[in-house]
Amino acid sequence: MEMIKTKGIVISQTPFRENDRLLTVFTDDRGTINVSAKGAASRHNNLKAATRVFCYSSFVLYDKKSSYYTIAEASPIESFIGLSRDIERLEVATAMLRFIKHTAVENVESNEALRLLLNSLYMLSETDKNTELIKCIFYLKNLVFMGLPPVTGECAVCGAKNELTAFLPQAGGVICAECAADEKESIGLSYYAERLMHYIIFAPYKKLFGISAEEKLYSETLKMVGLFISEHLGFNI
Ligand SMILES: [Zn+2]
Repeated sequence: MEMIKTKGIVISQTPFRENDRLLTVFTDDRGTINVSAKGAASRHNNLKAATRVFCYSSFVLYDKKSSYYTIAEASPIESFIGLSRDIERLEVATAMLRFIKHTAVENVESNEALRLLLNSLYMLSETDKNTELIKCIFYLKNLVFMGLPPVTGECAVCGAKNELTAFLPQAGGVICAECAADEKESIGLSYYAERLMHYIIFAPYKKLFGISAEEKLYSETLKMVGLFISEHLGFNI
């Protein structure tokens, strides 16, 4: 039988039969895949650690005959154990996995999105970096990878580049003061929150987690990102 090797993070796990588990694994080379972990729930099974939710593991899999791959071998690389120490950060991390499950495509290469997820979980688990900033980075960059970032730097309605003082998810991003006067549903946006959103969207990857700004800007930016994702992806972050 043909075998494949891959690395990925377990994003969900459901019980199956008495001692088995069905997993969704987000991999670098094939997007999300469904994996059957036979015996993973039995007490001394050596798959137990590598098949926990949040565990980033290396896998050797039997190529699928049905809709599931089957694990031949698995070993944990990183389990983000720090998440279990803080309920608020654990909830943020759990929502990120739900988002990936909601948006990732089966069997499509997703190297960048996996790296972003792993780095975001590391920041939540092992540092005290502001959670709202981590969320802003994670969700905005995922929108970039999906080809769906909010418009920033110019008005999403008329293209004007000045007085970008409002946000309108339905229009696709920031809008100018003049257009906002005609749009009752637009939301006021500060100059610095618009700049923060723009910076995160266009910043080179290695600079992302070094960003630092006033905390109230993280809240304001995150609110806009949440409204945008709800409008365009039907998902609450
Ligand atoms: Zn305008």
